[in-house]
Amino acid sequence: MKDSKYILVTGGAGYIGSHTVVELYENGFTPVIVDDFRNSHYSVIEGLEKITKTDIIYRKIDVCNFNAFENIFIEFSFVGIIHFAAYKAVGESVLEPIKYYRNNLDGLLNCLELAQIYKVHDIVFSSSCTVYGEPKGVNVVTENTSVQPANSPYGNTKQIGEEIINDVINSGAELKILKLRYFNPIGAHDTGLIGELPIGKPNNLLPYVTQTAIGTLEKLIVFGNDYPTHDGTCVRDYVHVCDVANAHVKGLEWLMKQNSNMTDTVNIGTGKGTSVLEIIHIFEKVSEQLLNWEFGNRREGDVPEIYADVTKAEQLLDWKANRNVKDAIFDAWNWELKRRNE
Ligand code: UDP
Repeated sequence: MKDSKYILVTGGAGYIGSHTVVELYENGFTPVIVDDFRNSHYSVIEGLEKITKTDIIYRKIDVCNFNAFENIFIEFSFVGIIHFAAYKAVGESVLEPIKYYRNNLDGLLNCLELAQIYKVHDIVFSSSCTVYGEPKGVNVVTENTSVQPANSPYGNTKQIGEEIINDVINSGAELKILKLRYFNPIGAHDTGLIGELPIGKPNNLLPYVTQTAIGTLEKLIVFGNDYPTHDGTCVRDYVHVCDVANAHVKGLEWLMKQNSNMTDTVNIGTGKGTSVLEIIHIFEKVSEQLLNWEFGNRREGDVPEIYADVTKAEQLLDWKANRNVKDAIFDAWNWELKRRNE
């Protein structure tokens, strides 16, 4: 299509990527997915086609393979890039650091280099609140809260990724790059056609909860009950994945209005903290069933309490989360039920 506003979405078959593809369509863009499906399923494409009622453009390409990746820039004339493609399991990154550094950094470097060559100026980069580590003396973090030494190779790839971007911008590259630091994305599309689909045993809390409830997993272990929080369990800022997806569209639109080379960083959360026990109780209400869970030891590296100051997202991008934790848990459960009943 001649006048299409093509957006390259690397990792577009993944969890946040797929929800962002829907938001892009709904806002008049034409997403082009580049994903090698090593950590995602083809069924995601079917789900996307049902939701958008259109043929999804996707190419099976490894973004670490420069030549293969370049082909997509030759094929399409992009007006923007959203770079998701990366590994994200903290524990695995400790065991296989080289795999993490190579994949997460090579992919980003190729993306930045190709963006320069093919003059695609506007880029949104997936970063994470993990860059804040354990903030000193505060639970609520702004974008100016100092970054702490990463406590995993995964976290380090996000910190280094941000530094690479800053260096590239400082070098005078004609790029505009927005780094979005996500807090804890949860939930699924309200159609139940796409959602979080971890390959193997999930690491994150919500898929662990829903898979325990459905019987795939036996029991949820709550990691620690003696943290200095209101109920002793860790507090996080859980944000609906569709709100996170929408932040990318708002971010791209904002980038497109900027005149000169720049980079900026924005927190993407709700500004509210929820404890693990509160998540369990909300889940039990929403699903009308009791969850099999018990307290276990603390998990190494867990920060007791962290949530986002979202003032900047509102002021800069005119974005804020429209859904609450209950909505997100409802949609996550709907997705789990729908998937099992198919
Ligand atoms: N958590 C838990 N049991 C699990 C998985 C996670 O108690 O099986 C807790 C974890 O300790 C943390 C919260 O749930 O306090 C969110 O963990 P997740 O891995 O989803 O995200 P993180 O904030 O660590 O990136």
